[in-house]
Amino acid sequence: MAVRDPSTGSEVGRVIAATPGDVRMAVEAAQRAFPGWAALSPDERGAPLRRAHALVLERADDLARALTLEGGKPFDEAKDEVLWGAEFLLWYAEEARRPWGEILAGNGPNQRLYVHRRPRGVLACITPWNFPSSLVTRKVAPAVAGGNTVVLKPAEQTPLSAVLLFEIFDEAAFPPGVVNLVCGDPEPIGEVLTGAPQVRQISFTGSVEVGKLLLRRAAEGVKKVTLELGGHAPFVVFSDADLDLAAAKLAFSKFQNAGQTCIAANRVLVERGIADELGRLLSGLAATLRVGDGLEPGVTVGPLIDGRALAKVRDHVADAIGRDARLLCGGEAPSGLDPERFFAPTVLADVPADARVATEETFGPVAPLIPFDSDEEAVALANASEYGLAAYLFTRDLGRAHRVGEALDYGMVAVNDGALGWVQAPFGGIKGSGDGREGGRQGLEEYLDVQYLSLNF
Ligand code: ADP
Repeated sequence: MAVRDPSTGSEVGRVIAATPGDVRMAVEAAQRAFPGWAALSPDERGAPLRRAHALVLERADDLARALTLEGGKPFDEAKDEVLWGAEFLLWYAEEARRPWGEILAGNGPNQRLYVHRRPRGVLACITPWNFPSSLVTRKVAPAVAGGNTVVLKPAEQTPLSAVLLFEIFDEAAFPPGVVNLVCGDPEPIGEVLTGAPQVRQISFTGSVEVGKLLLRRAAEGVKKVTLELGGHAPFVVFSDADLDLAAAKLAFSKFQNAGQTCIAANRVLVERGIADELGRLLSGLAATLRVGDGLEPGVTVGPLIDGRALAKVRDHVADAIGRDARLLCGGEAPSGLDPERFFAPTVLADVPADARVATEETFGPVAPLIPFDSDEEAVALANASEYGLAAYLFTRDLGRAHRVGEALDYGMVAVNDGALGWVQAPFGGIKGSGDGREGGRQGLEEYLDVQYLSLNF
């Protein structure tokens, strides 16, 4: 299977596409490895994770380069992702050593109820192309630290990052069968993974359509499904906010990875009196970004992943302008760059709330500014979405931060910040954005079953 550079379309590598038979072998290997792996102490299971962490740090440049070549993100950003992804390996190696349980009072003097957690078995993990390194470690590390075994399928656009990580896992000496990688055509691989009786859980990050498909298929075998689907993050800026800070965080949230992140600020809800000022500040920051091939020094915004992604971005911008939004900057490919691959950071003002860019996930470097007049209106606009992953709000008023923050129907709310993926925090959404958490204590519990022992003596 050829892997292509989204900046140029040229082939940058090849991986072996797994047949359905290969996938079944991987599942069987994971099943065979499970009892021995689960029986190890958490510290013993942490050892290969700690070794893998050290190896990722050692090879961070190589991993980042592969990531840029196949995913397009600028090298420095790719390296940040690799290093962030490495944190999950170390953090879960340690977190698995804290297998907290509960002891409940019994119904009589001689009874105690012990609540503890146990690994589930074989997990199937399916990851997307936009964070091809860190989302692999964010799933695999808690899964195996908790005593499960894994079969992982990376996105067909970006398998090289996963291959390099699994080579590291191999060197880190996970016992055979504990971590397995299958690349290739998603549909037949997905069919085997969802159909295999040994697979007890599917952990998926990707599109709503595929998430729903996996959920339907998993229902047949009553498998647990963890879903991290799209987002449509509102970025709410009140007039009492530090506007320079808000603009800087917005530029990061909106333009990193060319806007192709599920927690990207998708709708900028801004109090009317400061809308022009925020538009001016954000356009100024957008002008400092340099679009191009991610391996070129100084480039801060890479290509979009493919032509389909670009077409959607163009449609969203044209639709907004057709509804009388004002284009403050961008709106097309920067001159000299292939318009089928690149798009300039774009800011739109006076965007009506029913424009496509305000109602659908754009997944591109386009910031639509939508004015509001009251806290109530801001909350209503922010919550008017089937998604519920990430939200941002900017204010200097602590009372408002609590009131508005807690009223937002989102799994994660950042106040005066533009980032949410901390290793120790439970990342995940509600409503149409899926179910389940990655990161933090909750990210480990996601892959463990609760059992209680009723002890009577
Ligand atoms: P995107 O639109 O971001 O590419 P997808 O949901 O298509 O999102 O892809 C996310 C992951 O899901 C990728 O690893 C992709 O290969 C995988 N995938 C796509 N279709 C299926 C399927 N039918 N069964 C299992 N996995 C799939």
